[in-house]
Amino acid sequence: MIVAMQDSATEEQIQQVIEHLVRMGFSVHRTTGAVQTVLAAVGARIDFDTRNLMVLSGVQEVHRISAPYKLAGRSFRPQGTVVEFANGLKIGGTEVVVMAGPCSVESREQLFTVAEQVAAAGARVLRGGAFKPRSSPYTFQGMGLAGLKLLREAGDRFGLLVISEVMEISQIEMMVPYVDILQVGARNMQNFNLLRELGKIKKPVLLKRGIAATLEELLLSAEYIMSGGNYDVILCERGIRTFETYTRNTLDISAIPIIKKLSHLPMTSDPSHGTGLRDKVAPMARASVAAGADALLIEVHHDPDKALSDGAQSLFPDQFAKLMDELRLIAPVVGREIA
Ligand code: PEP
Ligand code: MN
Repeated sequence: MIVAMQDSATEEQIQQVIEHLVRMGFSVHRTTGAVQTVLAAVGARIDFDTRNLMVLSGVQEVHRISAPYKLAGRSFRPQGTVVEFANGLKIGGTEVVVMAGPCSVESREQLFTVAEQVAAAGARVLRGGAFKPRSSPYTFQGMGLAGLKLLREAGDRFGLLVISEVMEISQIEMMVPYVDILQVGARNMQNFNLLRELGKIKKPVLLKRGIAATLEELLLSAEYIMSGGNYDVILCERGIRTFETYTRNTLDISAIPIIKKLSHLPMTSDPSHGTGLRDKVAPMARASVAAGADALLIEVHHDPDKALSDGAQSLFPDQFAKLMDELRLIAPVVGREIA
């Protein structure tokens, strides 16, 4: 941590800051220039609140140098994390893994129709919400356990792994036997009690960025899961809220290379929620692969006009197949491949 003192800081104020830092367990290296004193505080304290220094008299600026997360940071595993599944699929390796399916599981007919088509096009993981975090309590809330059973059956039938969203602690036990990846939605990124419980299980977790979350907050949420012992965390950019109203959210493509630098965890892009508009999904999926995404999460529906949720951002199966062909051309340019 670097503490820059004001030009006018007195020797007494400088000593007070040094004493404060020493009390907190830092070793302090002082540099006194012609007008300004700068203190470099070296120490392993991760829980330190820099504001405690900013409010001391004579202090001008405080900069944290080390990240406030340890397990999620790149230096914990410089080679990168590869999440491996029993069927041999790897997320975080050279293959860009595409997860696709409807927003919500609506019926056997719907799920099996979509699953067959996304599998044929090269998707490796079937998505589908059984518990839905809807903005309105009057809209479809999901099929629950029956939806999970359908997901497992469809996944097994078409050779796909299965991902579904967990909304609360009480659902974890029920979901574990049916899904291969538990998704934490944007609205729950900072549900710290849920994250802690997900740290105790042995099942990969896909953690979505909250609609107004910084990337540091996303990594701190990953740290909650990892600090419990579950290191199989996959991150996901799904669009954030900005002043732009044309799209549902603004997909922050730059989050992909930033996370790849700051963290060793695999990074996913969700251009469906990231834009909210069907015709914007393919361009943003292509951009995501070009930017280095390890996986994509894409909503596909065979009859999106009748979808019970997110129809407007769901691709038709033929659009999805065309997109997969395009991604197969883009991936090798950035040293990746697509099934
Ligand atoms: C979803 O994947 O259907 C979903 C609800 O996503 P998010 O949490 O990103 O809104
Ligand atoms: Mn959705």
